[in-house]
Amino acid sequence: MAYIQFLGAAGTVTGSKHLINTGDGSANSGSANSGSANSGFKVLVDCGLFQGPKDWRERNWSDTPVPAKEINAVILTHAHLDHCGWIPRLVREGFRGPIYATPPTIDLCGIVLPDSGHLQEEDANFYNKTKKSKHDPALPLYTFEEAQHSLEYFKPVQVGDTNELSPEISFRFVRAAHILGSCMAEISLKQNGAARRLLFTGDIGRVHDHKIAPGKVVHSGPQEGESADVVVMESTYGNRLHPKEDPLPELAELITNTVKRGGSVVVPAFAIERTQKFVFILKHLMESSQIPRIPVFCDSPMAIKAVEIFLKHDEEYSDETRDMIRTYGSPLQWPGFTFASTQEESKKINDVRSSSIIISSSGMVTGGRILHHLALRLPEPKNLVLFIGFQAPGTRGFTIKNKSDEVKIFGDFVPIRAQVAALEQFSDHADPPELLEWLRTFRNQPATTYLVHGEPDAASQLRDTMKQSLGWNVQIAQYREKVAIG
Ligand SMILES: [Zn+2]
Repeated sequence: MAYIQFLGAAGTVTGSKHLINTGDGSANSGSANSGSANSGFKVLVDCGLFQGPKDWRERNWSDTPVPAKEINAVILTHAHLDHCGWIPRLVREGFRGPIYATPPTIDLCGIVLPDSGHLQEEDANFYNKTKKSKHDPALPLYTFEEAQHSLEYFKPVQVGDTNELSPEISFRFVRAAHILGSCMAEISLKQNGAARRLLFTGDIGRVHDHKIAPGKVVHSGPQEGESADVVVMESTYGNRLHPKEDPLPELAELITNTVKRGGSVVVPAFAIERTQKFVFILKHLMESSQIPRIPVFCDSPMAIKAVEIFLKHDEEYSDETRDMIRTYGSPLQWPGFTFASTQEESKKINDVRSSSIIISSSGMVTGGRILHHLALRLPEPKNLVLFIGFQAPGTRGFTIKNKSDEVKIFGDFVPIRAQVAALEQFSDHADPPELLEWLRTFRNQPATTYLVHGEPDAASQLRDTMKQSLGWNVQIAQYREKVAIG
């Protein structure tokens, strides 16, 4: 009987990876290496990297339960690293099938994956130099070259087109409204004369365009009127409501106060989507004299390349984004905004002693150039560290956001004396009222909904909310659990 096995984003928000096997692996048997005796068609929906706590990151080194070379295809929902960042490793392990994604997702992966390989190599080199790893020598999970090579397996798929993968299985992408190129995967399974429909949501974007979710780059509103027998659904914000207030007055006040005391603002931000959204908002606040005109440094080569991809794929823009681009043009040409692409340009930002705004990645401070900026500016009370995105437990971002006394960066403990603030309104994930609104548009009640991509408390609260409000059968997916879908 066909099954789904949850290989990541179960009990956590990272490492999204779900195996569909049309073969006869029995549910919850826990048997490893089903091998060719059970041979069915095997599809991975998403292939993300585990990030955050070491316990989870170590799972990046685990093999897939069926050999990578036996997996026939990957369906990728979007280009965030926690959904695509394990692809180069999968290819390194022997996968040779197609990786289906939308054209914007493919373009974004073209910068996200090589950058990830580069960071993996840098980390390994750093640990080998400092001998701060118990692994000798420390190895990269994959290299820049391997990440580049994995891009050859991508195949573009347009939203709404049906794609036959085998006589038993076909799929179609529908809009998820999360980030540029993001989609849900509707999968049809035909076996023994019976048809089953599976919906993998990937990450679900905001349901409405709204002032409280400003600067949304893509149109809000995931595809309505879905129907499915089995839903595999994210639960990142399952236990929290997004604030209802327009965040811009608070943002303006935070920046203005920091400038008044001679400090700088450091913003850890995902290079894809969040950085572009935030620079447009800063531009708007400066042009409308709501914040002082101070230099803005966007210290992320990836964010620069992503700007170019965003400008290329304008078909998904929200009306607000269109207005902003019409009014202000490309961020790469704004006076006072500097996009640092080389190491030297990045280092020069350290010499800027007057107030400035520094936006850099990674968004959860798990690596990248943001580490240097925080190591330098966290110890000074005059500075502000501003979070505009989700911080998973176990990440440095979570430690700083929760106002610990210190945080470990490059093996040393850095005191946290700067002001720390967080604005949740910029989220690209729907919260429970928005999710319920979307789920109420379903044409049928799925037999089972499995919640993934959430911390345990978020997943269990969303399960309870869905049971009470919709009467649906909702289960929380467990890591490596197999569930029958035949
Ligand atoms: Zn995402």
